[in-house]
Amino acid sequence: MLSETDDPLVNGKIPSTEGRDPAYFSYYAMLQHQVVFKHSRTQNMLQDTVRTSTYRSAILLNGPLCFHDKLVLDVGAGSGILSYFAVQAGAQKVYAVEASQMAEKMRKLVEAANAAESEALAKNAFLKDKIEVIQAKIEDPDLPIPKVDTIISEPIGVLLIHERMLESYLYARDTYLKPGGTLFPSTGSIFLAPFSDAALWSETMAKARFWEQPSFYGVDLSALYSDAKDEMFGMPVVGSFDPRTLIAQANPGGYVVDFYTVTLEELQDMTIPFIWQASYTGIVHGIAGWFDLHFSPPSSVPTGNTIAMSTGPAAERTHWQQVRFLLKEPLAVNAGQTIQGWMRCVVNEMRSYTIEAEIMVGEGQLTNPTIPLTSIYNLDFNRRRGKWRLHEQTYNYNYYPQSDNLFRPEYNCLYEPEHPLDTTVVVENNFVEDNQFII
Ligand code: SAH
Repeated sequence: MLSETDDPLVNGKIPSTEGRDPAYFSYYAMLQHQVVFKHSRTQNMLQDTVRTSTYRSAILLNGPLCFHDKLVLDVGAGSGILSYFAVQAGAQKVYAVEASQMAEKMRKLVEAANAAESEALAKNAFLKDKIEVIQAKIEDPDLPIPKVDTIISEPIGVLLIHERMLESYLYARDTYLKPGGTLFPSTGSIFLAPFSDAALWSETMAKARFWEQPSFYGVDLSALYSDAKDEMFGMPVVGSFDPRTLIAQANPGGYVVDFYTVTLEELQDMTIPFIWQASYTGIVHGIAGWFDLHFSPPSSVPTGNTIAMSTGPAAERTHWQQVRFLLKEPLAVNAGQTIQGWMRCVVNEMRSYTIEAEIMVGEGQLTNPTIPLTSIYNLDFNRRRGKWRLHEQTYNYNYYPQSDNLFRPEYNCLYEPEHPLDTTVVVENNFVEDNQFII
């Protein structure tokens, strides 16, 4: 658990991502991280067909309005795949900026196309003289990039925000996009919902309980038990899970991050409110999260096509999967009860976010997200707080969608109400206002 003074914004300064850059960019320099190995669980970018084909559809279906004869900037171009789609959609010129050595690989493809004497000989004749590869961080000064009509990028990490590359995307928007230009993707929406998974909780607890031993080869480890519990439960669990283990539905529409308008400051400290109605009687073991992406031309292009993609548990799997945040102490709910709270995400120096959440069943007021966990000693019996570091991810691959035909809610200790729920009491997106928090 972080102490109060570890909270980066409490110290009053935004942590830089630069310390992590060498490791981050050498990861992306490798071809193997651009694709997936068959049978590997590490499904990666290019062969994430949901991801890659959604981008392609968004670009081609908006080709005439947002790409044809336009200047395009690809932020973090990687293998260059989005730049190639932009050329297929008729772009006049694409500036493909990539900080890692992957830029050299992209250059090989582009130069092979440029060098061909005739179209018939070229491997990718359509690319000839269309792409400018620039190996640099987009934030570097004096890059040879003009103002562009359209920016494309895939700056998205787990829960939308991990990797903090969205900050580079906003930098590109503010520095290089013409007024009224297009941003693809255009919005990201974060969804949160409570889940029940006793097996996952018990597995995590077992890892902590190792440190409970009073005599491990004669050594009493138990002084570390509390730290071990904080650490194990502080690790977000990445993987997919059965959507039927959600104990309530996520708020429709989610928490929208509009890339056209969001500011850097807003991205660096976000509080996502939620209010749910429990569909079952059961035990909440934690909060699940995922996101949708939308590709919408700006209002200056009213006839464009909006393309959407979901990474939710009921959608086709993507390499982002979903993420689950376990509570150290689960929370019991009855079907029909209201569950509300917030999740605060604050940037940290690990190219990620430190996350804190409060979740409360039934009546009561939420505490203020800016009060650190460490200064709250007595939480009510119907309320939990948790703290996680989004970069300390652990993986769980126990769920196989094809093997679950016999699912019943009760197999997961989720009990349906005998009478239909009164859903009229509930629970639109009337997210809590600041002034509803207890100070
Ligand atoms: N656009 C590619 C790659 C996406 S992965 C595709 O869709 O397949 C994100 C890429 O952005 C990585 O290759 C990473 O090295 C690069 N990147 C991240 N931050 C960057 C920055 N500030 N400037 C330039 N490139 C960056």
